[in-house]
Amino acid sequence: MKIRFTNAKILTSEGIVCGELWTKDDKIYSIGSGLDDETADVTIDAADKLIFTGFKNAHTHSAMTFLRSYAEDLPLKNWLFDKVFPAEAKLTEDDVYYFTKLAILEYLSAGTNACFDMYYFKEAIAKATVDTGFRMVLVGGSNDLNEDTSVKLKEIESDFKKFNAYSPNVSYKMGFHAEYTCSEKFLRGVGEIAEAIKLPVYTHNSETKAEVVDCLKRTGYTPTQYLNSLSIFNYGGGAFHGIYLDHTDMKIFREKGLYLVTNPCSNLKLSSGVAPLYRYRKNGIKRIAIGTDGPASNNALDMFRETYLALVLQKTKTENAAESSCEEVLKYATVNGAKAMGLDASSELAVGNNADLVVVDLNAPNMRPLNNPLNSLVLAASPKNVELTMVAGKILYNKGQYFVGEDVESIYENVEKRVSRIKKSLNG
Ligand SMILES: [Zn+2]
Repeated sequence: MKIRFTNAKILTSEGIVCGELWTKDDKIYSIGSGLDDETADVTIDAADKLIFTGFKNAHTHSAMTFLRSYAEDLPLKNWLFDKVFPAEAKLTEDDVYYFTKLAILEYLSAGTNACFDMYYFKEAIAKATVDTGFRMVLVGGSNDLNEDTSVKLKEIESDFKKFNAYSPNVSYKMGFHAEYTCSEKFLRGVGEIAEAIKLPVYTHNSETKAEVVDCLKRTGYTPTQYLNSLSIFNYGGGAFHGIYLDHTDMKIFREKGLYLVTNPCSNLKLSSGVAPLYRYRKNGIKRIAIGTDGPASNNALDMFRETYLALVLQKTKTENAAESSCEEVLKYATVNGAKAMGLDASSELAVGNNADLVVVDLNAPNMRPLNNPLNSLVLAASPKNVELTMVAGKILYNKGQYFVGEDVESIYENVEKRVSRIKKSLNG
């Protein structure tokens, strides 16, 4: 199957190329002046459109769509322990399948075509991914708060094998929920597996001030230093949130090549703070990516909003409007996000890479005049400008229509039915 986009503005690592982009099956086949001797199965006129690689959401909990706008304006601890955890305890595998599908609809309509997803019931997430044609990298999110440590460690090894062989659209990276929900025995075990198979490890890290203070009291180390002392990061990996890193933490990030995944909306709504990306950059941390976090703590799965905030918060924090740039944060939201989750072949539009792309309509009031489409993509655009989203050469979203193997109405109906059941059982 060859799909040809004509008259397009194509955002590549060398800047905007005007011309044609061809995909062949699941790969990008040609970028530039076009292929005179070949015939395409589908031709799409992309005049006044910008094609970019699409957002790579480097930290999310997709199935938490079921908690969107369910409990708001509460202190973090009450929100988590009184609302989120009791509701999550009612989840079934099928619930997670449908709640993930709902998230995928939102990702597609908002220009995101790959996610780094941490949640329970990984088989259901993988199935929702394959059934819709989406692309997910699953990351381990377990803890051993209520379960046997050795069982949870075995689960990591079996998940690693299972989901890396599941489908070309699904892969798995090693991870755990956070140092404060895991025993030292469990974390040592994670470190041993990472050492043995030479794997990067990802986790929530330094999201709140209280988390860091507590870890210092308990272990004598910050979370980053504590995990590093347990050989967790010897083969890289990363931190979700990473708001409160000191100089030694930053040195570890630099030396171990760790990714820092920032989640501005979630951090602002839950009053956690603002990650000082400008300071990290100055201290040599170049591997910065962006995620939405889960829709309970955000509440949208909108990488336009995250990317915008990741930029303007740095300008505000430094009181310097020249701090950072659109080009830089767009790199965090695309190339770096893809690389953080091991999707190098989806990181940018280039021949031979995965045919993962997003078409943005420039023929809209908020995108005119065409002074600088890249700047407008970061500072002016929103999901309403997304016209088409492609994953692995398949068009999954086009002009408001979804092509995900199930009617949207049926997905909504299943979601509402399951949310009603969960709420009823919580109230009864
Ligand atoms: Zn999270």
